[in-house]
Amino acid sequence: MNILVIAEHNNQQLSSATYNTITAALQLGSTDIHLLVAGHECAPVAQQAVKINGVSTVLVADFSAYQHFLAENIAPLIRDIAQTHYSHILAPASTNGKDVLPRAAALLDIEPISEITSIISANTFTRPIYAGNAIATVTTNAPIIAMTVRGTAFDSALTSEENVATIETISIQHDKQLSSFVNEALSLADRPDLGSAKVVISGGRGMQNGENFALLEKIADKLDAAIGASRAAVDAGYVANDLQVGQTGKIVAPDLYIAVGISGAIQHLAGMKDSKIIVAINKDEEAPIFQIADYGLVGDLFEILPEIEQRL
Ligand SMILES: Cc1cc2nc3c(=O)[nH]c(=O)nc-3n(C[C@H](O)[C@H](O)[C@H](O)COP(=O)(O)OP(=O)(O)OC[C@H]3O[C@@H](n4cnc5c(N)ncnc54)[C@H](O)[C@@H]3O)c2cc1C
Repeated sequence: MNILVIAEHNNQQLSSATYNTITAALQLGSTDIHLLVAGHECAPVAQQAVKINGVSTVLVADFSAYQHFLAENIAPLIRDIAQTHYSHILAPASTNGKDVLPRAAALLDIEPISEITSIISANTFTRPIYAGNAIATVTTNAPIIAMTVRGTAFDSALTSEENVATIETISIQHDKQLSSFVNEALSLADRPDLGSAKVVISGGRGMQNGENFALLEKIADKLDAAIGASRAAVDAGYVANDLQVGQTGKIVAPDLYIAVGISGAIQHLAGMKDSKIIVAINKDEEAPIFQIADYGLVGDLFEILPEIEQRL
């Protein structure tokens, strides 16, 4: 059983989701995991990849048309590599992975399975459906199993200096010219990334306005936390929409999630209910968020937040 994992990176560094995806590959029971690093001038990524425990081969496809991971060029590359000798193709369930993997699967004439959250056997997996309100168990007989992996459901793969995977150069080049890279506008933030932070503090409509998010920022500074928000807070313009947590926002599973002034609608829970410890602050003791909270504080957030900050 040979497994191909598609690495996600910025030509300098592997994303944390790639490490989670490799853990999923390990759970399939294979010791032959190959990691595809497609990019341009991406040698630093390959050097990181060879140290990941369980990775036996790093396939490096270094070509200018792969620099920005355009799915139109990467999908045929995956098809060409995968159709010969792989039983599984795994990619992180990130924006890139969700873009490229279904296209590669279509080119291979197989059906992809999206966002797996656990592995029962080599061809049976679980994945959330209905915004996480039910978990489907999916079995497939596809000759090659292509799936995206929800990073928050798997631990990060470990690295060791002793593990030195073989690097193989792939010379297949696809430049379909169907799409072109225009630019990338990255928000520069001092805070940890919302998707991978160990602590997240999120505000909802109860925050009343964007200025009041400063109350959360003070606590976030002390806990090295990322800031999140409910959709109601985003729609009301309190904060930017890349902070939205939930069904139509980011899926997070930090060690600690603090929900402030958030009622706990199912669409919000879909994005954070796998957090290890959930703390809810809400003035309404009937708020549904308290049903999933490990710790609940019933009270006015405008009194509670300054007090927490002071104690921290
Ligand atoms: C298709 C679809 C997709 C959606 N996707 C998402 C999504 O991805 N993420 C998401 O979050 N939502 C999503 N929603 C919206 C979701 O249904 C809720 O409307 C939203 O989550 C509510 O946000 P909220 O909890 O901040 O606001 P509310 O439900 O209005 O809750 C505000 C809470 O603040 C409390 N509060 C008010 N003042 C104070 C105070 N002074 N002190 C303490 N507590 C206070 C109130 O008691 C209340 O519980 C989606 C909806 C749909 C239909």
